[in-house]
Order: sequence, then structure tokens, then C-alpha cells
Amino acid sequence: MIASGEISLQTHGAGDTQDITAQVRQQVKDSGISAGTVNVFVTGSTAGITTIEFEPGLTADFQKMWERLAPKNIPYEHNKHWEDDNGYAHVRASLLGASLTVPVTNKKLGLGTWQQIVLVDFDNHPRNRTVIVQIMGE
Ligand code: ZN
Repeated sequence: MIASGEISLQTHGAGDTQDITAQVRQQVKDSGISAGTVNVFVTGSTAGITTIEFEPGLTADFQKMWERLAPKNIPYEHNKHWEDDNGYAHVRASLLGASLTVPVTNKKLGLGTWQQIVLVDFDNHPRNRTVIVQIMGE
């Protein structure tokens, strides 16, 4: 069985990190599967999906890490061509990845207690985001 759903989000950009675990969990529950996988994919090239312990200290650490890894204020070829000044956001999003697969066993997501599914929006302005949730199993 395959079930496809969506999650719509309004983000602030600038590394805005939003916990979408509850919405994913609800869609898995509604699908009725007891075993399989759920794939969570964000549409767009300046946002990504991962897991993290969703608490303010760690989300701040995460933002600082991105600034060290792909600084905002260095030259990017993308900015020369498109002048949207978000080269850093594209690079960060590609590195993080657009999707995450989580196993489902005994009707439960295989997440740890302190492991949440998050969308990270790296873009330099607020965005409406669509996350596709595809559930495969039986
Ligand atoms: Zn761009």
C-alpha cells in the first residue's frame, strides 16, 4: 500500500527549523500500516529535512555550524547569475538533503525519544513550503 499526503508550512526563512514529527506521525497512523517506511521530502532547493533533538540550544548550534560550513557572506557564483543572494541557502540545502526515510514497525515511527523530524528553511525570506509524505507498507 502506498499513501501520499502533504504538510503545508509557513516559514520565516533564515534557518527557520520546524518540528513536523506530529504531522508525519498522524499521517502514518491514518494510513493504517503496521510495517514499512515513510519518506518525507521537501519541494524546493533552499530547504532540507533531517532529524535533531528539537531544543533551542541544539537548533542554535545547528545554525552556527551552517555559518562555519557555508558562510552567508562569501561570494557565490549563483548570486552573480541570479542576484537573489541566496547561494548559501542552496548549498546548505543540498548538503542537508531534501528527504528522510523513517522505518515504521508495529505501527510506530522508529524515532528515538529525543529525535524529531524537522524541516530547515535556509532561504533569505519567508516561504510557503510543501512537504510530501509518502508512506509505503502494509
Ligand atoms: Zn537562488
